[in-house]
Amino acid sequence: MAEVKKIAVIAGDGIGPEVVAEAEKILKRTEELYGYSFETEHVLFGGIAIDEKGTPLPEDTLKVCKSADAVLLGAVGGPKWDSNPKELRPETGLLGIRKELGLFSNLRPAVIFDCLKDASTLKPEVLEGTDLMVVRELTGGIYFGEKFRREGEGGQEAVDTCVYNVQEVERIVRQAFEIAQKRRKKLASVDKANVLETSRLWREVVNRVAPEYPDVELEHVLVDNCAMQLLRRPSSFDVIVTENMFGDILSDEAAMLTGSIGMLASASLGEGSFGLYEPVHGSAPDIAGQGLANPIATILSVALMFRLTFGYDKAADAIEKAVAEVLDAGHRTADIAVDKSQALSTSEMGDLIAAAMK
Ligand code: NAD
Repeated sequence: MAEVKKIAVIAGDGIGPEVVAEAEKILKRTEELYGYSFETEHVLFGGIAIDEKGTPLPEDTLKVCKSADAVLLGAVGGPKWDSNPKELRPETGLLGIRKELGLFSNLRPAVIFDCLKDASTLKPEVLEGTDLMVVRELTGGIYFGEKFRREGEGGQEAVDTCVYNVQEVERIVRQAFEIAQKRRKKLASVDKANVLETSRLWREVVNRVAPEYPDVELEHVLVDNCAMQLLRRPSSFDVIVTENMFGDILSDEAAMLTGSIGMLASASLGEGSFGLYEPVHGSAPDIAGQGLANPIATILSVALMFRLTFGYDKAADAIEKAVAEVLDAGHRTADIAVDKSQALSTSEMGDLIAAAMK
């Protein structure tokens, strides 16, 4: 009997519950096919938690997440809470949960499904073979440094400070090397070491730990060059590791290579194997409750969970292959369909993928 894996499930707001329901079908199907055992516990978070508990991140939600092996999150937020004060906004809960769970890296794979190459704004021949992962530092850098205003000679000045210490850099760089070891063994470390002191420290740390991963081919890429190369030769990248703000920008750029936000999974990791897995998209209030959402991003987030937290590589492969097979057979949800009248509903897509798993 396989060990029971505990998964805290946060359906959240908008299309969150719809896409999470499809991901749960995949968990069930995996149990049937592989004999694994998952114990899921649904908890409130985001807008719905504000409505029912008066806070976006209730204590008991945090407790369940902390005692779980992994967290599966749909999406949070919506116009209903947009004008709330900061502490009563769903996004505040997102920052809080990352901090409380010690999640310091965000992983976003960008994979091109052959049959969807035409959905991207780039030429299909440029995209051919693209399969990359952006590893973004999540808790340091300019977003979290001291911020203030002061009077200067040219009038009021605004200051944002960018701070990184060796430990923060080292833990994410090591994680990226380890991820590269499990993939095609190539790592691009992205910085701006020709200008920024934090980048020079970053590069020193990368060069110091690199000899411990001799099987990984390392290149240093300046961030401006990386932004360009992602559009010119995306298929030459395997794993990209970078600091918080560069990662924020590059991961959105990489995401758009694939053409549809409904297809993109993500993972946030801390020390050890614990992780939070969620689609890149938000709660899509414009299509919520209509069965129009594409559940593939959330389903692929489950594949990431299997691979990165549980080490269930075969089951992860089975999910990814099932998604590719269903797409190759021409099945589409409305966001990726050419002929919208033929589009499948959220649950029809989930059923097909679950059935295609082998
Ligand atoms: P969004 O990602 O929710 O939607 C952007 C566009 O993409 C919309 O037209 C939407 O219909 C479409 N879309 C998104 N996901 C889709 C899917 N799975 N299938 C088909 N179409 C899909 O971004 P937004 O509109 O800027 O934000 C809406 C709300 O979500 C806001 O409250 C925002 O704060 C929140 N948000 C939450 C998260 C999160 O939970 N991690 C992330 C981003 C935005």
